[in-house]
Amino acid sequence: MKALVLDEVGSSFRLADVDIASPIGREVLVAVKASGLCHSDLTASSLGGWPVPAILGHEISGIVAGIGPEVTRFSVGDHVVASLQSHCERCDACQQDDINMCSNPAFVARTEEQEPRLSLEGVPVTAVANLGGFAEQVLLHENNLVRIDQPMAHEIACILGCGVLAGAGAVLNAADVQAGSTVAVFGCGGLGLTAIQATLLAGASRIIAVDVADDKLEYATKFGATDVVNSATEDPIATIRQLTEGGADYVFDFVGRPEVTKQAYESVGRAGELGVVGINKPGAMLEISIGPEFIWNQVRIRPIFNGSTNFLRDIPRFVALYNEGRFNLDELVSRTISLEEVNDAYAEMTGHIGRTVVTFP
Ligand SMILES: [Zn+2]
Ligand SMILES: [Zn+2]
Repeated sequence: MKALVLDEVGSSFRLADVDIASPIGREVLVAVKASGLCHSDLTASSLGGWPVPAILGHEISGIVAGIGPEVTRFSVGDHVVASLQSHCERCDACQQDDINMCSNPAFVARTEEQEPRLSLEGVPVTAVANLGGFAEQVLLHENNLVRIDQPMAHEIACILGCGVLAGAGAVLNAADVQAGSTVAVFGCGGLGLTAIQATLLAGASRIIAVDVADDKLEYATKFGATDVVNSATEDPIATIRQLTEGGADYVFDFVGRPEVTKQAYESVGRAGELGVVGINKPGAMLEISIGPEFIWNQVRIRPIFNGSTNFLRDIPRFVALYNEGRFNLDELVSRTISLEEVNDAYAEMTGHIGRTVVTFP
């Protein structure tokens, strides 16, 4: 099957013909129909942390093409979306449905004694996060999949797997934004736009979008932002404090740069909360004053991984909202490309509005 392979950390992706094994045990073979470009894959491809060659891509929608003998929840022909929340069903976190914090995610992988799921000219290929979605097919554990029972285009459904969970989950699960509150969102990429919509669903009274690009800010107003701040030309802290009478109740940082995290922190009002979603580089530091006002203001800092979500619960919930016309996913996906175009699309990602999705025939 055709797949984009990363031969070395920091290199670009190469189109290759990769061998994929047949499903065993609880594995499911999925014909990939759409695969979203998430910024995390770009970060991961430059940082590594897993053996190469490797296949990235973790926003997958497709159709079940084969199942192992022990699969109980899926049948051939099912429409499915994958999630990177590998979970074991057995640890304390999984027992409490908090699968986001599973302590044994390797449960979904094959063991070293077993034939590798993927190989290239006899060399094992790593499917990063046990997914590897930049490929015509993926072979994964059924615990990484959820079935989509309502009709939905694959290029829209795929972004449920990460971008929507991470953006909307941060607002609805982790922070649990309350009706009538004020919110600021730093970074209006795919996650930020999803978060803005979720904030609107939660009933926030004021939603301030912050970015350095005017076109992204204009787009943010389509998704519910009531105010916009271009932080390249305007001090976001002063403006947010002024618009919210002292600071927002909830501020979300989707950017992942220390200076932005600091601005976001200083935009939070008393007893408010900063949700940090954007992933900073290893070793990044946040320098904030812990003088008397630190105690007085009682601002909480919450790191949020993948929307603190349980995808088995949340993906069907977002599908239902989408089908009720209450969640605009169509305009989040702004273009579709082929596998061959992924390198170019990543190169220009920062300047692009909305999500780019690879589609397969
Ligand atoms: Zn577990
Ligand atoms: Zn992602």
